[in-house]
Amino acid sequence: MAKPTGFMEYQRELPPDRDPRERIKDWQEFHEHFPEEKLQTQGARCMDCGIPFCHTGKLLNGAVSGCPINNLIPEWNDLVYKGLWRQALDRLLKTNNFPEFTGRVCPAPCEGSCTLGISEPPVTIKNIELAIIERGFEEGWIVPQPPASRTGKRVAIVGSGPAGLACADQLNKVGHSVTVIERADRFGGLLTYGIPNMKLDKSIIKRRLDLMAAEGIKFVRNTEVGRNYPTEKLLSEFDAVVLCGGATKPRDLPVEGCELKGIYFAMEFLHGNTKQLLDREHGDVQLEGSFGYPFISAEGKDVIVIGGGDTGTDCVSTSLRHGCKSLVQLEILDRPPDKRQPDNPWPEWPRIFRVDYGQEEYAAVYGHDPREYAVMTKRFVGDEEGHVRELHTVRVEWIAGENGRMAPNEIPGTEEVYPAQLVLLAMGFLGPEDRIFGQLDVERDPRTNVKADYGSFATSIPGVFSAGDMRRGQSLVVWAINEGRGAARECDRFLMGKTELP
Ligand SMILES: Cc1cc2nc3c(=O)[nH]c(=O)nc-3n(C[C@H](O)[C@H](O)[C@H](O)COP(=O)(O)OP(=O)(O)OC[C@H]3O[C@@H](n4cnc5c(N)ncnc54)[C@H](O)[C@@H]3O)c2cc1C
Ligand code: SF4
Repeated sequence: MAKPTGFMEYQRELPPDRDPRERIKDWQEFHEHFPEEKLQTQGARCMDCGIPFCHTGKLLNGAVSGCPINNLIPEWNDLVYKGLWRQALDRLLKTNNFPEFTGRVCPAPCEGSCTLGISEPPVTIKNIELAIIERGFEEGWIVPQPPASRTGKRVAIVGSGPAGLACADQLNKVGHSVTVIERADRFGGLLTYGIPNMKLDKSIIKRRLDLMAAEGIKFVRNTEVGRNYPTEKLLSEFDAVVLCGGATKPRDLPVEGCELKGIYFAMEFLHGNTKQLLDREHGDVQLEGSFGYPFISAEGKDVIVIGGGDTGTDCVSTSLRHGCKSLVQLEILDRPPDKRQPDNPWPEWPRIFRVDYGQEEYAAVYGHDPREYAVMTKRFVGDEEGHVRELHTVRVEWIAGENGRMAPNEIPGTEEVYPAQLVLLAMGFLGPEDRIFGQLDVERDPRTNVKADYGSFATSIPGVFSAGDMRRGQSLVVWAINEGRGAARECDRFLMGKTELP
C-alpha cells in the first residue's frame, strides 16, 4: 500500500485553478498542474482500504458509485506515491483508453465513494489520473502501437464521441480494420463540440486522434449516415457496425413565446462557439454536407440560461467570455443541500450543492452565484421584430402528489420578469436524433434510445451493436468509454467467435 499513515499526515490538496477574473478573458484551460512531490503526497493519502469502493462503478440509488470503468485506483495511487510513473501508466491504460479526457471532465464518482471520504476529504483520484497520463505523454511513453496483424474484418463505427473512439481503439488493437464515420467537420463528439475549450482543450483530443490514426484507424468526416451516406452501404460494406451516435435531441420548453428569435438550445450555442474558435485558429471552413451550427454571440446581451446542470454551466462560462451584459441561470428544482442527507449515505454519489467553474467565474465578477432555484418559466415576451425581450417566471415549491411523486406547485405572488435578449435552453436531452433511424430499422426502447442490452450491446439487427449515449441516454464520458469498450468486446466475439478483449 501507499504510506500507511499518509491519510493522517497529509491534507487533500488540488492545484489551484487559474484566477477566474483572468481566465474569462481567454479560452485556455482553467486547470493548473501540480509538481511531482505534491502528487506523490496526494497518492500517499490513499489508505489501500481492504474493500475499496472507489473502483466499483455500481449504480446505487439511481446514481453511479465508484469508477464506471473500474480503474485500478489504489494500485496506481501506490505506484505514484513510490514514484513508479511508468508502471502507474501501464496500470491505468489497462482500464481506461482516454485518461486525458476523464482526468479533465469526469465528475469523479470514484471520489464520492473513497473510504477516506467517510471522515475526511477524499483522495484526489481524478487529478492523479490526469497527472499519470500527462506524464506518459511528456516522457514519450505513449507512441502509436498498431496491431501486429490484421484479421481482414471491417467494422464501421458511426459517431466519433468517446463511445465510438473507445470502441474503435479496442477493435483496432485486436486487428480489425476500423472506420469511424462522423457527420461533423471534426471528430470527438461532445468532447469536441459540447464541452468547451476551457474545460477540455481541443488540442488534447487532436493528440489522441493523431495517435489512433497512426495506429491504423480510418476517420471519415462530414458524412452523416442516413443523410449523405446510405445505411445500405454501411451494412453491405462492413462485417459489423457499432452505432455510437449520441443522444443529443434536446428537451424543449413549449411555453408561450418559445418560437421567438434569440431562444436557442444550449448545444447550438456551444457547438457554434467552439467551431468559431477552432475555425479562427486553424483557418478551417465548414465543408459542404457537414453538420454544424453557426456562431451565436452573447456580447452585450442579458442572458438567461434555463437549466442548472453541467450544460447550463458551460453556457454560463461561455457567455461570460463573450462579454454578456447580465446573466441568470434558472433551475426548476430545489437547491441541493450543502451536506449529504441521511437518505444519501456514503458510498452513494453525494447529491450536494456544488459550485462549478462557470458559477465560480460568475461569482468572481458579480459577487454572487448566478443560479436561482425553484423557478419555473411561464412565458417569453418579444419585441416588434419577434425577438425575445423578457422572460416571465414564478417560484415553485415541490410537493408530493397522491402517487407519492414530487411535483412543482406555483407560489402565488412570486411572479418575476427578467430582461432577456438571449435565452439558452439547457434542460437535458431526450434521446438520439431521429435522422439515422429513417433508413435503419433498428428497434428502440421506450425512451427512444437504441434497444440493446447492457453487456451484449447487440441491437435487433444481427451484426449491429450500439454503445454510449445512443444506447443508455445522455450520460457521462466515463460511461461512454465503458460502453465503447464493452461493445468492442461483443463485436469482436461476433466476428471471431471468441474474444480476449476485457
Ligand atoms: C454541453 C455538454 C457538456 C458535457 N460535459 C460533460 C462533462 O464535463 N463530463 C462528462 O463526463 N460528461 C459531460 N457531458 C456528457 C458527455 O459529453 C456524453 O455523455 C458523451 O460525450 C457521450 O459520448 P457518445 O460517444 O455516446 O456520444 P457523443 O459524444 O454525443 O458523440 C456522438 C457522435 O455521433 C455523431 N453522429 C450522430 N449521428 C450521426 C450519424 N447519423 N452519422 C454520423 N455521425 C453521427 C455526432 O455528430 C457525434 O459526434 C456533457 C454533455 C454536454 C451536452
Ligand atoms: S474515470 Fe472518473 S470515476 Fe474513474 S477514476 Fe477517473 S475520475 Fe474517477
